[in-house]
Amino acid sequence: MEKMTPAMQQYYAAKEEHKDALIFFRMGDFYESFGEDAKTIAKELEITLTTRGKGKDGEKMPLAGIPYHAIDNYLPRLIKKGYKVAICEQLEDPKKAKGVVKRGVVRVVTPGTAMDSSMFSDSSNNYLVALYGDKGEFGLSFLDISTGEFLATQLTDEEPYDRIISELARMGPSECIMPPSMLKDAHLKERIKDLRIIIHEFDEDLFDHKIAEKVLLDHFKVSTLEGMGCSELLAAVSSAGAALRYATDTQMRELSQVQTLKTYFDSEFMVLDAITLRNLEIVRNVRGEGNDASLIGVLDETKTPMGRRQLQKWLLKPLISVDAINDRLDAVSWLHDNTLVRFDIRAHLSYVKDMERLVGRVIYGNSNARDLVSLKKSLESVPLLLASLQECEGIELLESTSSKLSSFAELDELAKLIDSAIVEEPPLSVRDGGMIKPGYNEQLDELFDLSKNGKQWIAKFQQKERDRTGIRSMKVGYNKVFGYYLEVTKANISQVPDDYIRKQTMTNAERFYTPELKERESAILSADEKMTALEYELLTELNTIIASHSRQLQETAALIGTLDVLANLAEVAANNNYVRPAITSDCRLLIRDGRHPVVENTVPGGFVPNDTEMDCSENQFQLITGPNMAGKSTYMRQIAMIVIMAQSGSFVPASHASIGIVDRVFTRVGAFDDLASGQSTFMVEMVELANILNNATPKSLVLLDEIGRGTSTYDGYSIAKAVVEYIHNKGRVGVRSLFATHYHQLTEVAASLKRVKNYHIAVKEDGDDLVFLRKIVPGATDRSYGIHVARIAGVPHAVTSRAKEILEDIEDECMLSEEDRKGSKKKQRSSAKYTQVILFDQDASYGESAPDPIVEELKKLDINSMTPIEALNKLNELKGKLA
Ligand code: ADP
Repeated sequence: MEKMTPAMQQYYAAKEEHKDALIFFRMGDFYESFGEDAKTIAKELEITLTTRGKGKDGEKMPLAGIPYHAIDNYLPRLIKKGYKVAICEQLEDPKKAKGVVKRGVVRVVTPGTAMDSSMFSDSSNNYLVALYGDKGEFGLSFLDISTGEFLATQLTDEEPYDRIISELARMGPSECIMPPSMLKDAHLKERIKDLRIIIHEFDEDLFDHKIAEKVLLDHFKVSTLEGMGCSELLAAVSSAGAALRYATDTQMRELSQVQTLKTYFDSEFMVLDAITLRNLEIVRNVRGEGNDASLIGVLDETKTPMGRRQLQKWLLKPLISVDAINDRLDAVSWLHDNTLVRFDIRAHLSYVKDMERLVGRVIYGNSNARDLVSLKKSLESVPLLLASLQECEGIELLESTSSKLSSFAELDELAKLIDSAIVEEPPLSVRDGGMIKPGYNEQLDELFDLSKNGKQWIAKFQQKERDRTGIRSMKVGYNKVFGYYLEVTKANISQVPDDYIRKQTMTNAERFYTPELKERESAILSADEKMTALEYELLTELNTIIASHSRQLQETAALIGTLDVLANLAEVAANNNYVRPAITSDCRLLIRDGRHPVVENTVPGGFVPNDTEMDCSENQFQLITGPNMAGKSTYMRQIAMIVIMAQSGSFVPASHASIGIVDRVFTRVGAFDDLASGQSTFMVEMVELANILNNATPKSLVLLDEIGRGTSTYDGYSIAKAVVEYIHNKGRVGVRSLFATHYHQLTEVAASLKRVKNYHIAVKEDGDDLVFLRKIVPGATDRSYGIHVARIAGVPHAVTSRAKEILEDIEDECMLSEEDRKGSKKKQRSSAKYTQVILFDQDASYGESAPDPIVEELKKLDINSMTPIEALNKLNELKGKLA
């Protein structure tokens, strides 16, 4: 085997240490990759694959490289495809290196541990989640190293892991790490992948509770995790320790921006599962492309990235405590009413930059002077914000925000310090000087004078030499390779004096120097060099000072985020004509003139508002009929969205609203094909339905749209009817539900189920035309108007008129069989060719009686397996139910 070059030895050493990563190996102006890595990179990035020399095995070595300055362009593409990339840098200046330049891996880039802003967006956190399960208890820890946020929770869950998936869906991490034992669970893995989260395996041992706890204790320099609220939550601690360890390993340094770990419980928030988030388009539209046409798209007029991220968190985690919601609403309301204050606050906020991430970069050590100017400008807004908030007495959330903000008075000094040090528009690079203001550092000022005087000297020298030689066009120039020179055009070459020493020949000129010029050159250059080195040193010092205030800076950033969201919600409420909802602990939902916050902005003819009244008694269950396109689904969603907005602390699109706390919103709406995961629409529908039926509580709100559509009419109708009965009787008290159906025959069920009420969306027939009135009104429809809708949609007249004929036949037949069933005419029952006919037949039983839950329960009893005492108790229980 041929001997490997020292550089290749370094490469193989890096690869050996980071087997699961692609290596970006810095060579001069390129990041090179070799062997299998090169093939992968060339394929994924569509760049040229070449070969060179020979590798370990003596074969030609595949090679692919990208220019170092294009890394921000290429790296995110690999990371998003699920690769890890280890960056192997030159660890010393190649010019100064003796022998081969030292190289080593400085960080491993993964989606959830990226610090590079090219890898994530402003509007959401970039979380890594570590997931660990033990005996049905699951720990989930979310870490965003770009902001320092670190959260842990513990859930009890079992297959199909609905709670874990819900939590992952709303937190939206970009990467999930799990121990190998959990990765064996193909079902869990699939569900996580469906959320487009990249999964990486992490060492089982590092999830061990003892080891994980030690990682946390050491990092936070504490002796117990009690203060963080998770000392007893073993699975949460395991996951948090592993998350921190993984992130530290990839960054290869201590993550001092992570200052604390917060434990939270999902019982503090309204539960919104992955399906509901998607169906209601809370932060993303259904196609998953950006936030146009989503709730956040309408509600986000925030001024700062912290506000934007905070708003998203509030919408994804609506509260369930009346007091906590009212605290938010009080603040929004005050800012809504005090328009000028709101304008002022929003104007000051517009100068605040992404402080959270700026501070993250300062602590991490990859900030530049521009970051510090941004930080200064952000801090300068704080006193102005405080001044605007002076009048907010009695408004708890605003008062506490303002008093916490003012407690960090030392940050004013910090802003002044940055202001005295850094020029207004510093360069991006931290290595080329030009960042520090005159007057900040004496030594730097002296060097500056030296360099400046030197340059003045050069100007005088040029004049002196022109006078001496009579060459008027002679210039003193400078370049990096040759330093300072005197340039004389070929035409004047004869006038050059003897003491000029030739330096370089150009096409039209000659370049010279003199000993005098040479001497000055070294003085000027060394002053310049010393200056840039000193500037870098001063910047680093300043960073250290800023980093020592990181806790206060991070808290300030979070407080500004809160203020931004509150002012934003007030602004949006004022602009969109929303009202403050009353929040109650009972289960009434009263909405007057409710609107759909997103659809109201898109319908050309103006949105028709609707009223809603729901409670836990007669108005618990709305069974809604109406033709397709009438507005059933919009109406149902608008109620869910109003509830979510209200419990997040927002005003709502209505003229009046009173919201009885909802603990979970469930939706089964639309029929999204989930072909990618290999499940049929009907299967998806039933899985979602099962989740709802199993988990809805008396405080939940259930939205069901067209249940049973994905199967045959018999099956579908039967399932729909059984579902209505089940929800109505669930826990004997039922669940607040809206149920839209095209089976208008189902409306008869309202007669026998006392908490079900029929509603329909009014339409007006105008000859053959159908006018959608978009108004929800009590009562059932008796027609489905499908043929009308088909006609409006442009289905050829021949088809719709034929369909009409067929329908008339069916209706006739139906009449006949109805009479037949009642025995009033002795006609032979016609064969039930058409579904409608059968449905009416089945329907007939609804008018008489619905199955009695007690009779049903009796039927199910297995007397043989009961002890006499159990039988007696059961009898007593059933009797109790009858009372
Ligand atoms: P359905 O669920 O009954 O098929 P949708 O709720 O999908 O009907 O509504 C169909 C369309 O009707 C919507 O896309 C919207 O453009 C319009 N629409 C719905 N509700 C209203 C309303 N209240 N006011 C005005 N237009 C509405």
